[in-house]
Amino acid sequence: MKKMTLRQSVTNFRKRIVNSLPLYSRKSVNTLVTAAEEVAKSRRGTVTQQYIESVDKIVDQPWPYLLLKKYANRHPFLRIVHGAIIREAVRNRWDVQEKFAKKCTFCGQEFAEPVEECPDCGPTALLRDPNPQEKKRLEAFLDNPNRDDEMVDIIKSVFKDNLAVDDWYVSIKNIGGNQWVVYVEDSAEMFICADKQGRLGNGVWFCPECWKPEEHEKTYPGKGACPYCDVPLKETAYVQKQEGTIKARFGRDEIIHGNSDPWLPQLYGNSKVMAVLQELRTAFAMSSFNFDTYASGHLAKIIFMEGEDQSKATEIGKAAKEQAEKIEIDAWTGRIGRKIRNLFFGSRGKVSVHDVMPDPEKMQSLEWMEF
Ligand SMILES: [Zn+2]
Ligand SMILES: [Zn+2]
Repeated sequence: MKKMTLRQSVTNFRKRIVNSLPLYSRKSVNTLVTAAEEVAKSRRGTVTQQYIESVDKIVDQPWPYLLLKKYANRHPFLRIVHGAIIREAVRNRWDVQEKFAKKCTFCGQEFAEPVEECPDCGPTALLRDPNPQEKKRLEAFLDNPNRDDEMVDIIKSVFKDNLAVDDWYVSIKNIGGNQWVVYVEDSAEMFICADKQGRLGNGVWFCPECWKPEEHEKTYPGKGACPYCDVPLKETAYVQKQEGTIKARFGRDEIIHGNSDPWLPQLYGNSKVMAVLQELRTAFAMSSFNFDTYASGHLAKIIFMEGEDQSKATEIGKAAKEQAEKIEIDAWTGRIGRKIRNLFFGSRGKVSVHDVMPDPEKMQSLEWMEF
């Protein structure tokens, strides 16, 4: 039989529906179906905002996610705000409750009250109670979402990703039968694969069982079964990249990707941290500046030296630096290092020493820390 085009099937459907209706309502139904036809005909526009790699159709992240995560992790402002939100969100933990009192086995309708029969399907349709087995399965999963992590840590991490970069990824894997495990994937390393219209998937198929980075990176141009282990191939919808190399591939049913601030047709979320990044950077710089002041115990100086030309001054400065080199701790990384604090200039006048930094009291440095 010849396959019907979309238009033909819509037309046939319209005829069938309209003919079964009373005359007075045919016109309005016709208008509605015509509108639906218009929608069906229209194609999606192009997602131009995002850069798409030609190989593997990997869509670039809109912001530097690694940087955003660093800010969320290190900056006290963000830590305090994000921490408060997350604490509030997981405060009451959870419990598993019945989703319905009765469910129609025919149409799937769920009822909060224990009804006698489904109002749509009548007395012949069987109603069922909640299945205690399903409850047990869900509780077992919540107790043990994977071999290593607690569910509360998974949820907290998802929230952190959501607040920092506004994209979180949880991978789902079947470990046999009805058993599934979930893992939080690093949002800074996860990329969406999509075409120019923003449709998920890149036409590169892989075996979910045997594809392994560097060992067995075999991919296929279309669907089918894996020639090695005979499981159905999956189309790559997400990849995990480390330093430009694909370390993992995921099919569309292997990842839950979420964000709280979507802006379609863009595929990624919209990090709120981006909106305050400039302010954060300023605060960061001021904080580092203050740390330098208090940690070193003296102020940085500019020293002008009488009768010396610049090269001589630089030489003296270098020698002084070598002597004065002392160990310091970086405010953010805790790493131990050294820093030169003084600048030497050759000058025709007398030696003069200038403080570069104003008095910390005048800078209201302590007030600054009272955020
Ligand atoms: Zn029903
Ligand atoms: Zn395979």
